[in-house]
Amino acid sequence: THKDIATPNRTKEILRTYGLSAKKSLGQNFIIDTNILRNIVEAGEVSDRTTVIEVGPGIGALTEQLAKQAGNVIAFEIDDRLLPVLADTLSPYDNIEIIHEDILNVDLEAFYASHLKDAKEIVVVANLPYYITTPIIIRFLESQLPIDRMVLMMQKEVASRLSAQPSTKAYGSLSIAVQYYMDAEVAFTVPKTVFMPQPNVDSAIIRLSRKATMGIDVKDEELFFTLTRAAFVQRRKTLWNNLQVAFGKKQTVKEKMSEALTSAGIDPKRRGETLSIEEFGRMSNAFSAAGL
Ligand code: SAM
Repeated sequence: THKDIATPNRTKEILRTYGLSAKKSLGQNFIIDTNILRNIVEAGEVSDRTTVIEVGPGIGALTEQLAKQAGNVIAFEIDDRLLPVLADTLSPYDNIEIIHEDILNVDLEAFYASHLKDAKEIVVVANLPYYITTPIIIRFLESQLPIDRMVLMMQKEVASRLSAQPSTKAYGSLSIAVQYYMDAEVAFTVPKTVFMPQPNVDSAIIRLSRKATMGIDVKDEELFFTLTRAAFVQRRKTLWNNLQVAFGKKQTVKEKMSEALTSAGIDPKRRGETLSIEEFGRMSNAFSAAGL
């Protein structure tokens, strides 16, 4: 047996041995609490059927706890200084592959073909680098990888935006971009004290799970996302106001928009923030049908 990586002493010892300090620019905040890690693994329902994709293994604290439960773990790390560390700290495990790559540059379709074709279940688990939380999530969701669940640590405020419901302050185009694909819930919040070094913000774990059925069959996804962004450009203004900014004020366009909203059953005087994803879907399909 060997000591867990995620303790204050072991983390300090590893950093000292390799002469490393955490790089702020890469969002490096290492977890030093094994219980938190176990709770993350549990939230991911990781089992021997699971292939885990991890972003940013750091010195291997979470990777290790994942490897104990998962079939296999594939982790992407951008920082070349950490490769020899990971080779050392994770040497007791034979079900981990570390890939030295910027996650935002990974060709996820090619990665699927080379690594995931035979996976029984795919779960993304990460203590994300906070400076690129949103781009990482959006990339995974838009990639169409058959991801079953994602369990992600992020800034608490971002977690509440991703999981927000209509007519709340946190609800916006980001909530819709995520909840279009996945059900989202905050699993638990995490105090700053479990990190080394401590971040300036509070954190939370979000759990995203694949929607069993899509609420609505959106005909034109590009138009759908254009509309969801347009509706929030000026939050305090009506949907109608924001749509005119996005689509122009030509009389013919206004007539088409007005008819489309009527046929979708959506009052143009409402604010965008009151619309559910299903309503955005209906509106988008009505706009497509009207040739907008
Ligand atoms: N998983 C470790 C833990 O929980 O202690 C470290 C988490 S730390 C918050 C974020 C990790 O992501 C760091 O190891 C950092 O080097 C890595 N990282 C930052 N940007 C990345 C990128 N674009 N692609 C892959 N990894 C990245």
